[in-house]
Amino acid sequence: MAKYITRPNGTEDITPKNIHKWLTVEKIVRETAEKFGFSEIRVPTFETTELFQRSVGETTDVVQKEMYSVTAKETVFTLRPEGTAGTIRAMLQNGMLSEALPQKVFYILSCFRHERPQAGRLREFHQFGIEMAGSSSPYADAEVILLAKNVLDTCGLKNIILHINSIGCPECRAKYYDALKAYFANATDQLCETCLGRLERNPMRILDCKSPICQEIAKDAPLILDFLCEDCKAHFDTLQTALHDMNIEFSIDPHIVRGLDYYTKTVFEFISTDIGAQGTVCGGGRYDGLIEQLGGQKIPALGFGMGLERLILTMENQGCEFMESSHCNVYLAPMDDAARPVAMNLAAQLRDAGIRAEFDLANRTFKAQMKYADKLGTDYLIVLGSNELSEQSAQLKNMKTGQQRPIRLDAHFIEDYTEISLTDLFGSPESARR
Ligand code: ATP
Ligand code: MG
Repeated sequence: MAKYITRPNGTEDITPKNIHKWLTVEKIVRETAEKFGFSEIRVPTFETTELFQRSVGETTDVVQKEMYSVTAKETVFTLRPEGTAGTIRAMLQNGMLSEALPQKVFYILSCFRHERPQAGRLREFHQFGIEMAGSSSPYADAEVILLAKNVLDTCGLKNIILHINSIGCPECRAKYYDALKAYFANATDQLCETCLGRLERNPMRILDCKSPICQEIAKDAPLILDFLCEDCKAHFDTLQTALHDMNIEFSIDPHIVRGLDYYTKTVFEFISTDIGAQGTVCGGGRYDGLIEQLGGQKIPALGFGMGLERLILTMENQGCEFMESSHCNVYLAPMDDAARPVAMNLAAQLRDAGIRAEFDLANRTFKAQMKYADKLGTDYLIVLGSNELSEQSAQLKNMKTGQQRPIRLDAHFIEDYTEISLTDLFGSPESARR
């Protein structure tokens, strides 16, 4: 036999055994986003590379090392490494930013980054994200943080810490860059090669370098919070007051700079303390310059991306509950060839009534069918033999209690099934209807 081909490193299969976890978080994020007035948007899996260079930024790890790009017919395309750039591009291209603002959208999508795969760090991963365009109010920042917190709470998560910081606007950052350049100038012989390049173009990036030597050097670097202009400082203060008012606990972490270049003012992360090094479940902030950078008007915007693999991993670690996976309601077991078309017909009637029904498709023996029905975890079982067919009546067996009750196979089939299943669920059909 030929050896089967395995999936690429850093990708994952989501099999039927695990799909209920994904359906659970997808339901929670959709419902929460909608409660806050966000509508779903879907954008292409790949975009022109230029889009990410112009938004995520040339000096970031994502653009420098992590993008999957391919040249096709002389254009360079990249599999999206994040959702914001494509979403803002789509809002611009579809005229959404000329409509009433703020525009509020959310998405659930896959992202691709060439990273070293490990628990919580994949090459294809999934994000739930939101973007709000057209509000410069610090209450919008609070609202976005509240939405993320609402999702994490609804998932049942504990021990998630919110870290916030402000990385200022281009004005305060100019002075801060000068201070950083002066600080790092003494360490040019020790910085990694990437950071040496960053020193001139974007010295704040050095603070985000993963190299232990660069991290050590950056430990005592000047802090952006000491350089904020009046406007940025007031914005940050109001955000903190709003979070206090909503009883949202947070800590100020002046070391967060975020891995993407488009951020201004507020940046934040929700960090889980129990999934190890890959603890950032959600990261986001404000990006007031991005829309203009992408060819639109000067419209302030903000949002976040939440890693769904990390979210599910944390939920598993904390023993959070997931929705039950869907399972078979009625399994029909035909005993011979004559009963097979009858089973098919009864299954069709059940499905028309919204009930999940299955029957034997593998010509199994009676014993093997019982075993299979057990594996399916079916609620009910109906065995169809020649007696049942001639009498037009069978037994509906409740697999949990073992109780068997007669069910007519003629025009009363669904009526009988409904009576019995409602009695099992509510004690009697009357109390179910009450
Ligand atoms: P990190 O510092 O962990 O690399 P990041 O700053 O690169 O994260 P963002 O670009 O802000 O992350 O993406 C938002 C969220 O997406 C992260 O907080 C994380 O939950 C998730 N995420 C990012 N990269 C990966 C990955 N390679 N695998 C799984 N999830 C990821
Ligand atoms: Mg990263």
